Amino acid sequence: MQILKSGGDTLDAVVAGVNLNEEDPEDTSVGYGGLPNERGVVELDASVMHGPTRRAGSVAGITGIRYPSRVAKLVMEQTDHIMLAGQGALDFAKVWGFPEENLLTERARLAWIAWMQSRRDRNGGNTWAPGIDAPDYEPRAGLRRQFPNATEREIAWALDVTQNPPTGTINCLAMNTKGEISGVTTTSGLAWKIPGRIGDSPIIGAGLYVDQDVGAAGSTGRGEENIRVAGAHTIVENMRHGMDPKQACLDCLKRIVRNFNGDHRKLNLFDINFYALRKDGAYAGAALWSGGARQGGYWAAPRFAVNDGDESRLEDCAWLLERKPQ
Ligand code: ASP
Repeated sequence: MQILKSGGDTLDAVVAGVNLNEEDPEDTSVGYGGLPNERGVVELDASVMHGPTRRAGSVAGITGIRYPSRVAKLVMEQTDHIMLAGQGALDFAKVWGFPEENLLTERARLAWIAWMQSRRDRNGGNTWAPGIDAPDYEPRAGLRRQFPNATEREIAWALDVTQNPPTGTINCLAMNTKGEISGVTTTSGLAWKIPGRIGDSPIIGAGLYVDQDVGAAGSTGRGEENIRVAGAHTIVENMRHGMDPKQACLDCLKRIVRNFNGDHRKLNLFDINFYALRKDGAYAGAALWSGGARQGGYWAAPRFAVNDGDESRLEDCAWLLERKPQ
């Protein structure tokens, strides 16, 4: 918002905004500190779109670079391409002076090891966990010994994410007083993914889409379902044809429901959210489910942050399906 207020570009503003999440070690779903793939490597996806010049850039499966959104912006600005992936994306970032660093924090390493140790076969064996001859066969005690600085809360969290791989991403859309729109989406993707798995976030039209004539949209949540409906593009097209941002997002969520023939048992296995900003300043967030439920706990529908110049606030997402407390 400071960048926007001082007359800066909308894309500079959104990238600076998400850089805060990318560098935050406490955020385990974006950038540095993100949960790794199944081999313990943090692989990041990001995309940007600049409305006024109608350009886009993205990186997929990039490792070792703390700010993938900045690299995506450089792909847009300094190449004749739109998307770079894996080693090529890393080499490109290094050419432009980005330091290569280990993005796996101790917290994320704790969770990764806990996840590897949780994968017992049906006889209880696991090559990454203490053997059957070990006097102490209990994962919590072993983790406590190996990570003496971890708090009980961190260990409980690590054990929880082994069973419930967390998702999380940040999408940020901005419009300035001239009506110029830009957007960014950045993530470490799905925890414990197969190396090389690419989510929706770096895919232009899925995790992000901006059309200066209409508006912008982005997504967080299960990327595979978003890719199948080209979510962000679908939402922008819905708005082009007259829907308001909320209707546009809910309609896209209906397509996801359709892909499962409305089978709530399967739909209940994931969450997905969309966010939309229309050229006239109208906006909305919408979630597939009214809330979440896990292990007896229940939480309300997701919220999204809005800042229209004064201060930021959280607003509730609309939702399509009601998830009752279990
Ligand atoms: N959309 C991200 C992905 O599928 C993850 C998430 O937002 O939870 O990679």
